[in-house]
Amino acid sequence: MTDADCSQTVPPSRLRHDESYGFATEQIHAGDTPDLSKGSRITPVYMSAGFEFDDFDQASERFLDTASVYSYTRVGNPTNAAVERKITQLDHGVGTILLASGQAATAVVALSVLQTGDRVLCSSSAYEGTKGLFSANLARLGIGADFVEDPSDLAEWESRITPQTRLLFGESIPNPKNDVLDVPGLAEVAHRHGLPLAIDNTVATPYLFRPLDFGADIVTYSTSKLLTGHGASLGGAVVLGDGFDWWSDAEKFPQYATPAHGTQGPSWVEAHGSGAVTAFTRDTVAMRFGPTQSPWHAFLLNQGLETLSLRLARHSETSVAVARWLEQRPEVVSVDYAGLESSPYNELATRLLPRGTGSVFAFTLRGGIEDAKRFYNSVELFSRMTHIGDVRSLILHPATTIYVQQTPEQRAAAGISDGLLRLSIGLEDADDLIRDLERGFEAIASVD
Ligand SMILES: *Cc1c(COP(=O)(O)O)cnc(C)c1O
Repeated sequence: MTDADCSQTVPPSRLRHDESYGFATEQIHAGDTPDLSKGSRITPVYMSAGFEFDDFDQASERFLDTASVYSYTRVGNPTNAAVERKITQLDHGVGTILLASGQAATAVVALSVLQTGDRVLCSSSAYEGTKGLFSANLARLGIGADFVEDPSDLAEWESRITPQTRLLFGESIPNPKNDVLDVPGLAEVAHRHGLPLAIDNTVATPYLFRPLDFGADIVTYSTSKLLTGHGASLGGAVVLGDGFDWWSDAEKFPQYATPAHGTQGPSWVEAHGSGAVTAFTRDTVAMRFGPTQSPWHAFLLNQGLETLSLRLARHSETSVAVARWLEQRPEVVSVDYAGLESSPYNELATRLLPRGTGSVFAFTLRGGIEDAKRFYNSVELFSRMTHIGDVRSLILHPATTIYVQQTPEQRAAAGISDGLLRLSIGLEDADDLIRDLERGFEAIASVD
């Protein structure tokens, strides 16, 4: 079921099609599906595995996909569809697919675009789960992965494109090093080679950055993080744009030119136009592999989206305050935050991220692992957790957690030193967070 199919059953949202609205208005009203029969103002949780057919003929119509209604939640669900429409609008896309987690979103993109013999070219500063999926899981399917060592070097990206490369994958704001990606520059490289660019935009969110506006073709999210925002649920999303010509070279992406239903009839592109890649990805990848987003978690995501701009503005503002304070401390060697003038990525961030630079960054203690341990164990307000984008502030020691399986050489290559701590700044008062971090420095001083 495509977004277009679903939309026919949806009551009109309050947003007029002939007017443009600001982000804050759209994050509340876009895609909205009030339950008109009961007067429920907010989009209800349609917590139902399936949807009843009126009669014999309608059952068949729904399976032929000519009707605009729902049959089974793995194929489509009104709560999920409303949130998908909202994200499509916020991200300036043509279609969105909600999925069970961020990992599911990355996997679904890979399984839609790539097939045996193809290769993906990925930034080395991408999320560890992404790199593992690409290098280990896809390898078992005969799909290769190459990694760009210095993602800010566009020439390296270009030099690593092979005749088998079919997808470029990067992150707008990677963590923990905050090496902001030159998305418009990379999109140009990708398109010069007739390849699509996918961007994991989890840390930026569409409020800080819209990858599709800067040339990317696919956007992925772990909605478990800032989009839902309150640390309560898992989810993922894939957003498709319409700027990439998937059909100019029929050899490259043959799947989108095959018949959409069975062995005959119109191809995906003939049947769905600019929504063809969304339709293929939804109907044959997401629906068959089955990592369906629970409507309950889609509802929680929708609640989070309604305050996204307010949260991201505050997350970013507090992060700047905390990062500036950390930078002044003699115990700190460096702070990797693109919002600081001292960051080598500050200029790019100023250009691409004028609304803020997010809330996930790292700082490195002079005293190495011993100081990191004392610091980590003495904070009280920060939660010791491997998660990001919560309203609560979180702290993690990547070298002994996310990167614990790697060799010291691999960690060094990733810039993960023993004294590095990652912070995810929440929505508490900046002064209280700083006072809490002060406890960490006191713990270090007490043994010196
Ligand atoms: C957490 C995360 C993921 C994976 O998302 P899950 O919802 O945990 O599956 C992918 N990319 C980034 C940048 C993340 O932070």
